[in-house]
Amino acid sequence: MAEPKENLQMEKIVSLCKRRGFVFQSSEIYGGLNGFWDYGPLGAELKRNVKELWWNAMTRQRDDVAGLEATIIMSPKIWEASGHVATFADLMRECPLTKKRVRADQVEPQSGTAYHFEGATDFDEYDNFAKKFPAQNQDQVFDELLRATGNELNFTETVIKLVKQHGSLRTDEIPAMAKTSEERFSVLLSAGKPPESAQKTAKEFYKQRGLKNPNLLGERAQKVENSTDFHPESGALLNEARPFNLMLQTYVGPIQSEENIAYLRPETAQAIFAQFKNVLETSRQKVPFGIAQVGKAFRNEVTPRNFTFRSREFEQMELEFFIKPDEVIEAIHGSVFTVQGSGLENSEPGTPNPEPQPNWGWQAWHHYWVEERVRFYEGIGLSRETLGFHHQTPAELAHYARACTDILFKFPFSKKDAAGNVIGDELEGIAARSDFDLSQHQRFSGKPMGVFDEELRAAWAKLPKEKQDALWKRYYDNRKNYLTKSAKPDETPEQISQQATEDANGLAKGQYIPHVIEPSAGVDRLILALIANAYTETTKTDDKGKSETIYVMKFHPRVAPIKVGVLPLLKNKPELVKKAIEVRDLLRPWMNVYYDDGGSIGKRYARQDEAGTPFCVTIDFDTLGEKPELLDSVTLRYRDDGRQERLKISELRDWLLARIR
Ligand code: ATP
Repeated sequence: MAEPKENLQMEKIVSLCKRRGFVFQSSEIYGGLNGFWDYGPLGAELKRNVKELWWNAMTRQRDDVAGLEATIIMSPKIWEASGHVATFADLMRECPLTKKRVRADQVEPQSGTAYHFEGATDFDEYDNFAKKFPAQNQDQVFDELLRATGNELNFTETVIKLVKQHGSLRTDEIPAMAKTSEERFSVLLSAGKPPESAQKTAKEFYKQRGLKNPNLLGERAQKVENSTDFHPESGALLNEARPFNLMLQTYVGPIQSEENIAYLRPETAQAIFAQFKNVLETSRQKVPFGIAQVGKAFRNEVTPRNFTFRSREFEQMELEFFIKPDEVIEAIHGSVFTVQGSGLENSEPGTPNPEPQPNWGWQAWHHYWVEERVRFYEGIGLSRETLGFHHQTPAELAHYARACTDILFKFPFSKKDAAGNVIGDELEGIAARSDFDLSQHQRFSGKPMGVFDEELRAAWAKLPKEKQDALWKRYYDNRKNYLTKSAKPDETPEQISQQATEDANGLAKGQYIPHVIEPSAGVDRLILALIANAYTETTKTDDKGKSETIYVMKFHPRVAPIKVGVLPLLKNKPELVKKAIEVRDLLRPWMNVYYDDGGSIGKRYARQDEAGTPFCVTIDFDTLGEKPELLDSVTLRYRDDGRQERLKISELRDWLLARIR
């Protein structure tokens, strides 16, 4: 889909990102590489802050989550088990003219007049044929061939008649309809465009098919309303949709053979599943617990677009939170605490998320993680009003998923609904994925992925027989359903039933495969959301009528790339500079400080405003004791309203730390 040129806000943001060093095009000096972006000095700091905040919130601040840092390239078997090799594909449609591909579900509806062509023949072929006749007959031969074009029978008869009339040609010199393209081609013209431009495009198409001088056949025009069948740029009718695998592949080792194919991971999550047992055993965690990972992921996106929103190389922050299946909760606690009536569903901003409880089922956990993640976004400056939610419908959900809630951010390029409200685009998806992932790795690797739970074993033994039977049956049905849907071609229904029986029998022994809730966020999309959210511009006109646009990036202090600007009032006063450097060195071990002594103080403030620095401190003559009561204090300036106040240097560090953490 064409990037909407009219999206002025995005253009301004992209331009500021480049001008101030947030984001650059990758390989820019060589013309760039589509879908790849580099983070400049400010962007790199912003990104580090975001990842660190996520890591802290998800692991260090919690007892129930452990971290992991796995490799980008892993055994290709992982991607077979996860289903990525077979199904990680987008349905794509190709433009037959430009060969550009678009995602079938992302073609904008268009209206206009479609011009259809049945095929084409080649004028030059006629000409060449005519030239084989005596000079005085050539025009007649050419005209007659032209008149007969489009009807194969007619054409052949005409050729035979001409040869008979004018004699002496061998049959192998007869062109027949040889140089003909019978490929159909259609092109959509928007209202007001002359039909000749459709013919021009069609001729271009047939030239690509080897006709030097195409003569179009069977032209027909048709009105079209809101069709998603035409390429948005060329107008050509798109080819049928075909799947296109999004994994980028490479070879491991010196031989480029089929067996050595490996993939750059398209998500970080699978490493977590593959290492589940190792982490469980080494971290002394017990279900429920999570494993978190931040790292690069790669997808050969067909249409990278909207700046960094859809890139081919990006970073993810993923948590796999392993929980007990509802049957296990019920066996241990008698019932499952679900969301209905739990009070979870009405949690207001500012109220703490409820403490997780041992009797929570998947629904309560799913809800908890959605809330937890929204609170994270609020804590870094994205208010609830800037966010949206999409609860996937049963038709959208993968067969194994119980629920998936996407947290959306209202980007400048986000579409509006019928009522004119901005819908938003996905920042993060929080999916309840059942026990699908661990089960798949168990089946593909042959290694057990289940856990042993003494509490379950003890509780099961005390359950009345009817309860045991009911839970057994539910667990059995779920396992059978999974096993049937994921069956390999050689697996029989009997084998599946036997496996499901074994799995359900495991409950009595305290064994089960954990289910998982997966909050999966994209770092780059979040950075873009933070940049779009922070961006403000105002135009100021001075006394002389000269106007100037002022940009202030209003980042939350937690994510701001630079936390504080340290500015000596004057550069040429060594005492001021010395003191300013002392302040810089005092703060530096604790936060990212920017020392700036170049230009007027107003200019320096403006530079920091554009970088999004929330505070600036100025070292002036009062700092040096010109007013004795202000000795060793600095002017502190707030970015967002320009307010200033006086603060003691001795209090500065703690004052800043309280606001940036
Ligand atoms: P989309 O539908 O937008 O392609 P997805 O549902 O395929 O996204 P997931 O597989 O759930 O995305 O990935 C989790 C997160 O990773 C997304 O919410 C997003 O923030 C991020 N992400 C996925 N693909 C990309 C990409 N091509 N560029 C940047 N971030 C991405």
